[in-house]
Amino acid sequence: MSEDKTDLSTSTLLTAGHRVESTQHPVGLPVHQTTTFRINEALNAAMARGDYRSQHLYTRMSNPTTRALEERLAQLHAGEDAVVFASGMGAISAALVGVTAPGDTVLASTELYGVTDGFLDAYLAQMGRRIVRCDMSDSRALADALVDFSPTWLLAETVSNPLVRVLDIEGIAAAAHATGSRLAVDNTFANPVACRPLTLGADLVIESLSKSIAGHSAVHGGAVIGDASLTAEVWKAMIHFGSCLDPGAAALIWRGMQTLALRTRAMSDNAAAIADFLYTHNEVQKVYFTAAESGRPLAPLLACGGMLSFVVAGGDERALRLLDSLSLIVPASSLGGVESLASLPFNTSHRNPEARERCGLLPGTVRLSVGCEDVGDLCRDLAQALKLSAEL
Ligand code: PLP
Repeated sequence: MSEDKTDLSTSTLLTAGHRVESTQHPVGLPVHQTTTFRINEALNAAMARGDYRSQHLYTRMSNPTTRALEERLAQLHAGEDAVVFASGMGAISAALVGVTAPGDTVLASTELYGVTDGFLDAYLAQMGRRIVRCDMSDSRALADALVDFSPTWLLAETVSNPLVRVLDIEGIAAAAHATGSRLAVDNTFANPVACRPLTLGADLVIESLSKSIAGHSAVHGGAVIGDASLTAEVWKAMIHFGSCLDPGAAALIWRGMQTLALRTRAMSDNAAAIADFLYTHNEVQKVYFTAAESGRPLAPLLACGGMLSFVVAGGDERALRLLDSLSLIVPASSLGGVESLASLPFNTSHRNPEARERCGLLPGTVRLSVGCEDVGDLCRDLAQALKLSAEL
């Protein structure tokens, strides 16, 4: 027995703190479900050096389970370090507050996840940062904005939400660096199997771990990855916002992530086949996808992933009926799970009319997150829902 507490009273035995003394090496990631850690000599020495990362004091700051996930994400993205969060928005908000200062300008892409857009205008601007926007797929407009606004940071999405536009991360990073700006990239719609923005010159990469990285629509998380000097600032912001990831959630994300490459292949193949089906459907006016019609992912993506959007004839009313008519694909917000989901950006991710206008969202736009089901079943479901929603 590693603990001899038998001379203690029942109430003390029930409540006493645990002392882990193990020579075992589990293959699965152990969950250190604790808020705090016994202070010992090594921790005291680390604290004396101001090092609260290599030794663990308090889970809001660091924990062995979340730290293991951070190290794995840093490796995956070829970054020096990573910080994990309770959600993708936790990551985005701490990253932007952590690496900018009052008086700085943030140049944001015109097409971003609606809540990110909302955070910029409703909160970051109130903290004294100037927010300006430009279409980063237009290199001339980007060059002009860099000169006109001298931003400290640029914020873009590798693959945009909701119209899955693929940005030239390498070109944007080069243009930003040439004028002394830095680039943060939200890689959520891509994922590290499809794209590693740090290897293309980005300075920070942000992931919502709630999506394809965890992959089972079961757990929230977020991450920021980059040079240690930047992630240290982001980590400090996380500690003050309190947006730390729970160790149990970190272990679920870790387990989901083990199949990310397999799932990305399956989702990409399925999405390419569904895009082909939609291109030829006479009730579908437009298809937005991350691959050319050959199915080859657009540069710099290595896989097209499961996200696509399309515009159905009949506008938002028809799109609402279409979602109602689906029997296999689940009408739900979010994305990246093994199960296919469909949502309408106008009443979920992009409720703000100004944000819809900025990204040119057309009435009748449906966003699909294609999962790993049999693709024939998915196409049959879409075909019957398109038919039924036209007849209603
Ligand atoms: N970034 C993108 C592109 C998203 O689509 C989302 C959520 O849908 C987020 C970030 C935020 O992630 P979370 O819901 O984990 O906060």
